[in-house]
Amino acid sequence: MNEQPLILNGTVVAQQIKDELAVRVQTLTEKGVVPCLATILVGDDPASATYVRMKGNACARLGIRSLKVELGKTTSTAGLVAEIERLNDDPSVHGILLQHPVPEHIDERAAFEAIRLDKDVDGVTTAGFAQNAFGMAAYPSCTPAAILAILDHYGLPIEGKHAVVVGRSPILGKPVSQMLLNRNATVTVCHSRTQDLGRIVALGDIVVAAVGRPQFIRGDWIKEGAVVLDAGYNEGNVGDVDYEACLPRVSAITPVPAGVGPVTIATLLKHTVEAAERTL
Ligand code: NAP
Repeated sequence: MNEQPLILNGTVVAQQIKDELAVRVQTLTEKGVVPCLATILVGDDPASATYVRMKGNACARLGIRSLKVELGKTTSTAGLVAEIERLNDDPSVHGILLQHPVPEHIDERAAFEAIRLDKDVDGVTTAGFAQNAFGMAAYPSCTPAAILAILDHYGLPIEGKHAVVVGRSPILGKPVSQMLLNRNATVTVCHSRTQDLGRIVALGDIVVAAVGRPQFIRGDWIKEGAVVLDAGYNEGNVGDVDYEACLPRVSAITPVPAGVGPVTIATLLKHTVEAAERTL
């Protein structure tokens, strides 16, 4: 029985990333380049508006300019793509983030694809995704990169471990699976049609929860000593993992909040600064 699991503190990991970035932002600014992240919010989903506001505040604290583009919920795919193309052509914009999800009538994939690869700081384009699969992405998706950053910050081994990822979305489950595979984990990816999920999760030395269902991953599924990373963020600040039930079994776990979330934002800032540096 594990007495004292390691709580993987995302706030600490994020602060370290931001401390390193502060110096780079200053250097860039002295050279006349102010890193700029454009965030696009379509519609009035309150959760999405909160995420965009949090990202904008994080930029401001670090001296990164954030350009907020707010489009009405009736915006068409063509209208959204035109806005993205305008930002592609704006040399003062270094990164573009289209807040997901967009209203249902919009072709989200078409909109993501419109983002120019060198400004795709959230790794949402198919080209960015493919680069990630080959382990050569300039900007892997931020949440998967954050999960890897947490493991690395705490020196938790990946190579040779069996990683079970629950979720296969193009921005989270799939890219994090690829990243773990590229780091020589043995990876099992689960999804809504997976049978006997608990039995498979119980094989995981590393378990990544990316489901979008509150407290979905049960404590009795978790192998003794497993490392659990909860990417979930559901209403009421609840993750995808039943944290309290998992705690007695894990060797390490991310809480929600203050786990993967803050590192995701710090990673977005990092990618934006890197994109700005590449323009020099
Ligand atoms: P998503 O696109 O809705 O994907 C959810 C995935 O979970 C899908 O692959 C789905 O399988 C799978 N799933 C659903 N029900 C399942 C079940 N009963 N058993 C097994 N798998 C099941 O969600 P997402 O965008 O990847 O986000 C996942 C979670 O991460 C959400 O809580 C979201 O809020 C959070 N998130 C957090 C951050 C952050 O910064 N912390 C960033 C992005 C997302 P199918 O493919 O078969 O449908």
